[in-house]
Amino acid sequence: MMHSSEIRRTFLDYFQQKQHTYLSSSPLVLSSDKSLLFVNAGMVPFKNVFLGLEQPPSARACSSQKCLRVSGKHNDLEEVGRSPRHHTFFEMLGNFSFGDYFKQDAIHYAWELLTQVFHLSVERLWITVYQDDEEAARIWEDVGVRRERILPFGAKDNFWSMGETGPCGPSSEIHYYLGSDPSMQHPEGVNSDDDDYMELWNLVFMQYNRDEQGSLTPLSAFSVDTGMGLERLTTVLQGVKSSYGTDLFVPILQRLLALNHRDDAHYQQYRYAYNAIADHSRALAFLIAEHITPGNGGRDYVSRRLIRRAAYLGRTLGLEQPFLAPAAQVCVDILGEQYPELLQIRTDIDSILTMEEKRFQRTLTRGLRYLDESCQRLTQSGLRTLPGPEAFKLYDTFGFPFDLTQKILAERGLDVSVQDYEEERIKQQQRSRQHALFKA
Ligand code: ATP
Ligand code: MG
Ligand code: MG
Ligand code: MG
Repeated sequence: MMHSSEIRRTFLDYFQQKQHTYLSSSPLVLSSDKSLLFVNAGMVPFKNVFLGLEQPPSARACSSQKCLRVSGKHNDLEEVGRSPRHHTFFEMLGNFSFGDYFKQDAIHYAWELLTQVFHLSVERLWITVYQDDEEAARIWEDVGVRRERILPFGAKDNFWSMGETGPCGPSSEIHYYLGSDPSMQHPEGVNSDDDDYMELWNLVFMQYNRDEQGSLTPLSAFSVDTGMGLERLTTVLQGVKSSYGTDLFVPILQRLLALNHRDDAHYQQYRYAYNAIADHSRALAFLIAEHITPGNGGRDYVSRRLIRRAAYLGRTLGLEQPFLAPAAQVCVDILGEQYPELLQIRTDIDSILTMEEKRFQRTLTRGLRYLDESCQRLTQSGLRTLPGPEAFKLYDTFGFPFDLTQKILAERGLDVSVQDYEEERIKQQQRSRQHALFKA
């Protein structure tokens, strides 16, 4: 069985042999890009190159980019734990052509790497193309994919744009059937919510520029941007059905179970909570390595929310001692070689996570009691929506991030009005502003 670090290295070696320059991962926080809280794809550090504003580092490049999808257009947070393949933090393997090769080579490389180097079973692979991209479909046929395995999709799935205007173009994706019986495969499974079908690799062919009027003109130089989740490729190569079954996650889950004095049966019963905690511990380790520590605004609040969501989940599992720090230490063991910034910050990861987790534990018990009582009152009066002021009190007095309150309510078949909550928050802001004025 191939170890995940070997899988990453094999991908990067393959493209280096094809004259790609290896570029180590950019930080999650790019000070040059104010439009994003966090890097969420391998191409983000090269945005200005694709826009023609910067010289490419070389004509071809490859990387394994740290990505975080917890905010903005790409926010997978609510999927995490439930989904066998969505994480907040993940590594995106990618190869890039900056005005150098195009569809022909990009498709040949991807196919050769997956089928000749990694030896994936051709019988489990599916290809999607943009409906009008006959050129890509033909190239896939040339490399040996049967026509019935090449599926056309519309713009939602297979046309990529950087923004309202700017570089854009058709994409083509490789999907993998993870199910136990290959004779059960069918085209409708691809891009559906059936977990037996997993999107593995996205190849984007940038060939147009979209102007203010929405019309497309060919770019002077065509480019390629690809992205494949290391966790997903590892899932396939290690013969499991979920990334949580790979060597990237198993040791973290084992540590959590040991801390909880529980065995696999407990994991099977509470898989969602264990998975989400393992996921969050990785994201937190990488955030702290970039000096993003729990706080009240922007990126810092992302860190706080992750810790508090994890603390709540830990409570549902009966975990009593602080568990995030030990889980994050295992993540450092697993990924420290590839990302040495983790090794340097080991002790900070420990103290920051332990402190924030303990701080929240103090109000979590009381907050949950308050929430329980509110829920009881609601159900007794036949209502389903928690009033805004109560959700705000959970935030203000007990430190519950709003999304955590939403999540707990959803678990009980209840909800809360975002608008009511917002109104209450603004009222409170005005009250404290008046208070400050009065004091002055
Ligand atoms: P999905 O449809 O599964 O949500 P996506 O289309 O949003 O994936 P892309 O934006 O195309 O993903 O990103 C390229 C690749 O990165 C995907 O093909 C997948 O391998 C990986 N990837 C995307 N999102 C995640 C995630 N949340 N966790 C792990 N890997 C991911
Ligand atoms: Mg997605
Ligand atoms: Mg997709
Ligand atoms: Mg995709």
